Amino acid sequence: MLTIGCHLSNSKGYVNMCKEALSIDANTFQFFTRNPRGGQAKAIDPEDAARCREMMAEHQFGKILAHAPYTLNPCAEKQYVREFTWNTMADDLVRMESTPGNLYNFHPGSHVGQGIEKGIELITACLNDILKPEQTTTVLLETMSGKGSEVGGRFEEIAAIIQGSELGDHLGVCLDTCHVYDAGYDIVQNLDGVLEEFDKVIGLERLKAIHINDSKNPFQSHKDRHEKIGEGSIGIEAFSRIINHPALRNLPFFLETPNELDGYGDEIRRLRGLYV
Ligand code: FE
Ligand code: FE
Ligand code: ZN
Repeated sequence: MLTIGCHLSNSKGYVNMCKEALSIDANTFQFFTRNPRGGQAKAIDPEDAARCREMMAEHQFGKILAHAPYTLNPCAEKQYVREFTWNTMADDLVRMESTPGNLYNFHPGSHVGQGIEKGIELITACLNDILKPEQTTTVLLETMSGKGSEVGGRFEEIAAIIQGSELGDHLGVCLDTCHVYDAGYDIVQNLDGVLEEFDKVIGLERLKAIHINDSKNPFQSHKDRHEKIGEGSIGIEAFSRIINHPALRNLPFFLETPNELDGYGDEIRRLRGLYV
């Protein structure tokens, strides 16, 4: 069975997200841990979280994916920005323990002119600061398109961060199809080659989730604009190969395409139909 879901709003809590997921035949979902622009998080209702865990078990959900606010920057130049980011992520990881054993995804960040090595050093320091041996959540670095001074557009950068981290057992990678295609990894013409490269540089055992998005822009554009499945430069045939690939087919897939709930439902139905 294909494990697939989409990004949902968490403004009405976990049970509501489970219900929305079920209404579109999803068996997982992604959500922001708090307002995507950062700031104060709403307290987690333990009953809501407990009921969500029950519903997930009852309906055989795959792991769910919490996404850190995208305005955070673990490798910011300004110390107060870094501190805010690290504190927010540490707080997110405490909150994640109300739904134990799931996934937390973050953007490695932008080095804003400090250089890629400094960026990698700061991101590694962030992880060494926030990861705790007893946590049950796996923290995922998202592959990025390499726009501006983004870190994580190359597999080597992600590998360096993981290798520098003391608690690497708690780390994995979320591969975003739009981002890697925009970054110059040709998952349309050479999916096997890209996955071999991923395996050689990072290790496929680190790959824990897929963001499944088409791209509004051509190969290697370094742009990061998501498109609906089959309507962008990646195309439906490539997605059929992606969801069925032996190295990927058992991972959870998360749609972050420009859709409302019913549009996500259509994409899930279509992708389920292509899963063999
Ligand atoms: Fe993301
Ligand atoms: Fe993504
Ligand atoms: Zn994106």
